Amino acid sequence: MSLEFRGVSHRFGGDEVLKRVTFTAEPGEITCLLGASGSGKSTLLRLAAGLERIQAGEIRLDGDVLSGSGTATAPEHRPVGLVFQEQVLFPHKTALENVAYGLHELNPPQRRTVAQSNLDAVGLGEFSARYPDTLSGGQQQRVALARALAPAPRVMLLDEPFANVDATLRRALREDARRALRNSGGITVIVTHDPEEALELADRIAVMDHGRIVQVETPDEVWHRPAGRAVAGLFGQAQHLEGTAETGCVTTAFGRLDWPCEETVPGDTVDVLVRPNAVALERVSEPSAADGRVEDIRFLGDRYLVLVQSNGETLRASIEDRDGIRVGDPVTVKLDRSGTFVYAATDG
Ligand code: ADP
Ligand code: MG
Repeated sequence: MSLEFRGVSHRFGGDEVLKRVTFTAEPGEITCLLGASGSGKSTLLRLAAGLERIQAGEIRLDGDVLSGSGTATAPEHRPVGLVFQEQVLFPHKTALENVAYGLHELNPPQRRTVAQSNLDAVGLGEFSARYPDTLSGGQQQRVALARALAPAPRVMLLDEPFANVDATLRRALREDARRALRNSGGITVIVTHDPEEALELADRIAVMDHGRIVQVETPDEVWHRPAGRAVAGLFGQAQHLEGTAETGCVTTAFGRLDWPCEETVPGDTVDVLVRPNAVALERVSEPSAADGRVEDIRFLGDRYLVLVQSNGETLRASIEDRDGIRVGDPVTVKLDRSGTFVYAATDG
């Protein structure tokens, strides 16, 4: 059992917004489709739901074509549950009636039992008699999730489902949603533009960039081995520095970094992405040209954020221990390779 996208391309007018998208979402896993706004995530989800007509490629569920040339299963006949950012519950139905709504095949007592257990699963067991306008945004989103899960669809598709929920409630909602979705055992695809959310929710992350899937891996893999600049730039608050390739190293405004530079020739411009927690600082008494100067220090509770300036560029360092470093000090910057990534420069 799997949901398979094969060479799916899509145009709106002259714009190609999906470019030969190929990947597979597996059952029992949560796959997060992660990408910047406009990268094509919603379009891909709408194609899978049958809300948009497929133009090229195909989408298969368990090997059967859901959408492809000449074939398209109507949205209402797809074994798919949908949850969107803006949830529309029936205002004159209680939470329980909303969840029971899609359970046509069951008799009324069964519908109540199944709806109640789905409300329980999203932590709203006590709220079954409440009307939507007496529930918070986050609670309404939970009802919507329970309603989509109730008919036990083989596929759950969620598009930015937590985007309108208060930041403080979002974490608890994500955890409950992940539990309920995993327990369903089906295939789940969740769209998000938030890398942190993808890390918290996903078993696998499919990263989209300008209509292309650029990497599909576990959170651990995309974090530690990003497949390119677009992926590296998403995680760990990576910042961009311009570098120059040399033999066996890269030079930046903050000095040299040992690097194999296999795909570049000396003198090439390269993109260097650095995570703040990969930056180490050392105070120096006699600064050289490549040393920086501490511009500002912010205390963040468990760490310090130190802004270092050198040759007109600013670098953020996240360090646990200040080691007596003060604003105005000259410092040598060391970049740890586990959180630094170098790519041949791209245009723009
Ligand atoms: P995302 O969900 O990643 O933000 P979308 O799939 O919504 O991206 O959009 C991808 C691109 O397609 C965007 O440039 C968007 O403006 C465009 N687009 C989306 N839907 C339509 C539409 N119905 N008509 C024209 N352009 C659209
Ligand atoms: Mg979208």
